[in-house]
Amino acid sequence: MDYLVVGCGLSGCVVARNLAERGHKVTIWERRDHVAGNMYDYVDSYGILVHKYGPHTFHTKKKDLYDYMCRFASWEDYKLTCMAEIDGIVTPTPFNFQTIDDFYDPEQAMTLKAHIKAAFGDRQTATVVEVIQHEDPLIRAYGQFLFNKDYSLYTAKQWGVSPDKIDVSILQRVPLRFSYDVGYFDDEYQVMPRSSYTDFFKSLIDHPNITVEFNIDAATRLSIKDSQLFLDDQACPCPVVYTGALDELFDCVVGPLPYRSLHFEWMHEDIESKQKAPVVAYPQAEGYTRITEYKKLPVQKVRGTTYAVEYPLPYHSGSQSEPYYPVLTEESKRQYASYKKLANKVDNLYYCGRLADFKYYNMDQALERALELCNIL
Ligand SMILES: Cc1cc2nc3c(=O)[nH]c(=O)nc-3n(C[C@H](O)[C@H](O)[C@H](O)COP(=O)(O)OP(=O)(O)OC[C@H]3O[C@@H](n4cnc5c(N)ncnc54)[C@H](O)[C@@H]3O)c2cc1C
Repeated sequence: MDYLVVGCGLSGCVVARNLAERGHKVTIWERRDHVAGNMYDYVDSYGILVHKYGPHTFHTKKKDLYDYMCRFASWEDYKLTCMAEIDGIVTPTPFNFQTIDDFYDPEQAMTLKAHIKAAFGDRQTATVVEVIQHEDPLIRAYGQFLFNKDYSLYTAKQWGVSPDKIDVSILQRVPLRFSYDVGYFDDEYQVMPRSSYTDFFKSLIDHPNITVEFNIDAATRLSIKDSQLFLDDQACPCPVVYTGALDELFDCVVGPLPYRSLHFEWMHEDIESKQKAPVVAYPQAEGYTRITEYKKLPVQKVRGTTYAVEYPLPYHSGSQSEPYYPVLTEESKRQYASYKKLANKVDNLYYCGRLADFKYYNMDQALERALELCNIL
């Protein structure tokens, strides 16, 4: 073995493929029993393709990244539409002019849209924070309505904080649209695999120089002493590309990094449709944030419907839960910087990925970062 890669998600597999094509023998260790990391999908017992770790749509502005994905799978255009249920009304997200029509009477709605056009001119979007802080009281009230009924409740559940403690910066991510346009992302390339993400991964690692070993937790085999990497207590004979969490590799010496986790409650009903869109947020519901209905992601012509109800919860290292979202605070960023400093001192240790970089990467960002790392290997 010339290289050991830890983690069989997108980051690890892209690095492994690149090394393999350059003639290196690569072994991948994966602690789960399957490929694809959080992009793993499978056909359930009702014949519906579902995503085990939450809904994934590939989207990017960058053609070279899209082209890379096309080397290993065939993709079809797919624009994800999401909605939110507020006071029993289901409205598009990002919120758009339809939302105004849904919650205001026709005359008020017309006035509000005219005020928005006058205030924002040609701009197509704004953050809810801009809208809440706007000098026009009508626009401000619209922002406040959305904040009270959606943003604050959803964000509080997602991050486990009370609505009055939410850092406004978190609210910048999902903008408001000033048109009737729908669609969750604006990227030029928005696609889904024609077959499945799992098939994409099988093709990505289908190379004679790549070996994958499942159910191996690198934390039980790799260790670091005095900035030296050990494999089963012997000096590690090859470079390691690590895509797991850095705190786990260093036995949490600077404390565990904070993550939010998710619990999915899987349901199947013998009905044609559960909800109006593949992904619907329920900000006012008790405990859960959203429901994904998989036959609509994209359309699968099957009887019945399978959906996953998503409950955010805290992550505890070593528990059954998975670390999904890094909780970025001043303190956790400082803590991560300490781990990074330790990792950078270790010869033959390279790292990338959403866990090792402690960043909430979309797939295209994880791919780009992995390809960049390949340039120095
Ligand atoms: C709910 C959810 C929805 C998402 N939706 C989208 C979307 O719609 N579009 C989008 O672009 N992105 C989305 N993402 C982000 C996307 O999942 C990531 O960008 C991508 O999976 C990152 O790949 P990765 O290899 O860095 O990490 P991962 O997929 O987490 O892979 C890391 C792998 O390393 C393994 N591992 C960790 N530690 C060890 C260890 N010690 N030993 C052995 N193996 C180990 C893990 O088991 C895992 O398989 C979503 C993420 C979540 C959580």
